[in-house]
Amino acid sequence: MRLTVIGCSGSFPGPDSPASCYLVEHDGFRLLLDLGNGSLGVLQRYIALDEIDGIALTHLHADHCLDLCGLYVAGHYHPDGPRPRIPVWGPADSAARMARAYDLPEDPGMTGQFDFRTLVVGEQRIGPFTVEAAHVNHPVEAFGLRIEADGHAITYSGDTAETPALVELARGCDVALFEASCLESNPSPGVHLTARQAAEHAQAAEVGLLVLTHLVAWNDPAETLAEAAEVFTGELLLASSGLVIDVA
Ligand SMILES: [Zn+2]
Repeated sequence: MRLTVIGCSGSFPGPDSPASCYLVEHDGFRLLLDLGNGSLGVLQRYIALDEIDGIALTHLHADHCLDLCGLYVAGHYHPDGPRPRIPVWGPADSAARMARAYDLPEDPGMTGQFDFRTLVVGEQRIGPFTVEAAHVNHPVEAFGLRIEADGHAITYSGDTAETPALVELARGCDVALFEASCLESNPSPGVHLTARQAAEHAQAAEVGLLVLTHLVAWNDPAETLAEAAEVFTGELLLASSGLVIDVA
């Protein structure tokens, strides 16, 4: 499996990164985890838009889904005719919500371009991946996702505050892509993790590599890393747009 960080800026695009979007590739299948604002542009440095095989949305906050609007336009108005539909797994309201985002009538909304499928708690097969979804702790329905292939696993927290569900989901995985939106000096209980809390969850789950992500532009990245390093004893990285991790 190959993980490419397209966007890792928390809550809004930052100067060096779009909002949330991660490309996971295996056996030629290209799965996107979230498609936040700004990510569609940077994504095209890595793959063409007609090479996207599937998209999984962790939740429907703008910084995780809004660039579906641009992808809809690129597919619907393509000079060679509309592109084939792309499967999109997300919360039950995804199709209606994305129609409203683009000010389209809900029927058909974006369903000509996207085959919306409801993400469910538990396991689902997406291409070559087994994807386990679990509810996490955020003010709207939000999922954490564990992506497995060939005996390796990446766990993406999506947006979450503290929750034992994330520890269970990530247990023993190779790579934990955990949000670290906050510092201890400015926490956001019930909404987001601090870097220290992300590290505590990763330590409890005994993951191999912790990649801190959803990094908000107003935080000092060095401070984020330092707070996590006080707790997590494994390999630790800050996400950055363009970071590639081969999981094997
Ligand atoms: Zn959110």
